[in-house]
Amino acid sequence: NTTGPRLPSYLKTSIPKGASFSKIKSDLRGLGLHTVCEEARCPNIGDCWGGKEGATPEEGRRAATATIMLMGDTCTRGCRFCSVKTSRAPPPLDPHEPENTAEAISRWGLGYIVLTSVDRDDLSDGGAHHFAETIMKIKQKAPQILVEALTGDFAGSLAQVSVVAKSGLDVYAHNVETVEALTPFVRDRRATFRQSLSVLEHAKKEGVRITKTSIMLGVGENEEQVMDALRELRNIDVDVVTFGQYMRPTKRHMKVDRYVTPTEFDRWKHVAEDMGFLYVARLDAKPSDLQAGEYFIENVLR
Ligand code: SF4
Repeated sequence: NTTGPRLPSYLKTSIPKGASFSKIKSDLRGLGLHTVCEEARCPNIGDCWGGKEGATPEEGRRAATATIMLMGDTCTRGCRFCSVKTSRAPPPLDPHEPENTAEAISRWGLGYIVLTSVDRDDLSDGGAHHFAETIMKIKQKAPQILVEALTGDFAGSLAQVSVVAKSGLDVYAHNVETVEALTPFVRDRRATFRQSLSVLEHAKKEGVRITKTSIMLGVGENEEQVMDALRELRNIDVDVVTFGQYMRPTKRHMKVDRYVTPTEFDRWKHVAEDMGFLYVARLDAKPSDLQAGEYFIENVLR
């Protein structure tokens, strides 16, 4: 079997539509910005950008979530689950990007924004200052927006983690992606589970109120390994964990090992909540759960 298991019906999603979806998309094009939602061909794009079904365009915009990808569309790493394109020498940073991003975001009237980036191992600071400048500009133009920064590991440089952590963000996210034993097979060889833990631990030490990470299920992990990962994350005071289903972006990427059932997602949510995580989201094609996570974080922070 070269294709892996069949996609269950509960993971199928509808085609995007709606006013805020088109508006955000056209603004992004005009400003030369990229989003993970598009680059990773996320099937939930219509729901996240369009807000809830039946909402007015204004309500839709407020509920909408976009994940903006800074520093271009080309990554210096090559993780086996990720469809972002790769190069050892991506084009230089756009010096106007922090300003343009902040301008666009402040116009959309969103309550919560996620900023992420490709990994830029080619830059001496890994792009940390560019990231921080973008956050500071967003907070100047629209102080009411909560900003989540989803960063790479800055090749383990905690000084760069500090630059981002002290920029005024609300949530510092860094994804461990999978359990420790599978990390060498799933993520780029420069990424390690320990290095990711140190990023999250350091962000918290720098005074960030909420730290967050994500684990993909269905790549071959077993229960004990997931439990170990959760224990390690809780030990370093990570607040929010999200569980997602690995979806193979193309045939060139690693196979899906299995599709996790809604019941199992529920079980992991309860297990993690019992361990003391502040919030646990499951991303099995239910963007409303992700948005519930953001509302929850908003309530904690505001
Ligand atoms: Fe994708 Fe890995 Fe690059 Fe992140 S670091 S954009 S997951 S290839």
